[in-house]
Amino acid sequence: MGFLVRIIFFLAAAVALPAAAESRIVKASFGQVDGQEVEIYTITNAHGIEARLMTYGATLVSLKTPDRAGKLAGIVLGFDSLSPYLSGPAYLGASVGRYANRIADARFSLDGVSYQLAANDGRNSLHGGTKGFDKRIWTAEIAGDGAVRLHYVSAAGEEGYPGQLTAQVTYRLGEDDTLSIAYEATTTAPTPVNLVNHAYFNLTGDRSKSILGHQLKIAASSFTPVDATLIPTGELKPVAGTPFDFRTSQVIGARIEAPDEQLVLGHGYDHNWVLDKPTPGALSLAAIVIDPDSGRSLEVRTTQPGIQFYTGNFLDGRSVPGGSVFARRTGLCLETQHFPDSPNHAKFPTTILTPGETYRETTVFAFGTVK
Ligand code: BGC
Repeated sequence: MGFLVRIIFFLAAAVALPAAAESRIVKASFGQVDGQEVEIYTITNAHGIEARLMTYGATLVSLKTPDRAGKLAGIVLGFDSLSPYLSGPAYLGASVGRYANRIADARFSLDGVSYQLAANDGRNSLHGGTKGFDKRIWTAEIAGDGAVRLHYVSAAGEEGYPGQLTAQVTYRLGEDDTLSIAYEATTTAPTPVNLVNHAYFNLTGDRSKSILGHQLKIAASSFTPVDATLIPTGELKPVAGTPFDFRTSQVIGARIEAPDEQLVLGHGYDHNWVLDKPTPGALSLAAIVIDPDSGRSLEVRTTQPGIQFYTGNFLDGRSVPGGSVFARRTGLCLETQHFPDSPNHAKFPTTILTPGETYRETTVFAFGTVK
């Protein structure tokens, strides 16, 4: 699209917005995929916090928050243009589905029927398969003050999953300096569902810096240990006395190289913590991250039972068309989720959605600063 056309598109979209949302949400074009337009929405609040979301993968592209001196900077990994996203590096900021994280041997059984998925991570299925929700174009609408809602209909049989799944995600930037991400889904046949946002945070505001100096608290007394292919063994292991104990705030890098079998298998932290939830399914504190240098803090609240804390161990700095992947451990993920490989673990909380039910999960990221 020509520059002038882009400007006209941008202005026309901004003018067409309802008055209440006018100052807070701006829609623009972010390019095209296979001839289909990808839109980007910029949401701002009165304190200058800015979130940008695109319809490709219902992805959080950028997020700016102030440091303790009030200086705004980007705190998630992402690209300024669409093309680097298309080679799919690392699911940066994406909405991952139909089933986020791994399913062992890319297979599960449901009601006596065995389903085969694509093995795209060794012999396992990772993050919804070859063309998961992160690589689909969602349709978007402005959904009131500070909110953008995105929709995607996943056909029955897509990536091997049963049932047509109608999914939506609503991103809402509040005047209370929170970004909430709410997923909903319904299905025409029983299917596993695990919808997760895959933002990589770096609270320094400088995406070339390591996240190992960040301090982290996770409200979890146990985690799910993994095998060599990062599939949970099924055990819920107490964190007490291990480098996985973040019940009080700890510097992330302090124990990451400890001679611990689980840290070796994960190449660092890449595990699911079992959240201590006062009420299952209710919104509660999951994690708090602080960058002592910039003073930025991030509090994560969720309705989900688990959280994948991943230290960006597989980020490798390699080049992709139009950009380069970020370097190892320059971003950390706090993926609020159901436990990995739940369809093959009867003892884990169920991830099966049946017709007539509505899947609903919410995660809130609250931004602040410390002295
Ligand atoms: C997984 C990692 C994986 C990464 C891909 C994370 O959710 O836990 O093992 O490499 O996603 O970006």
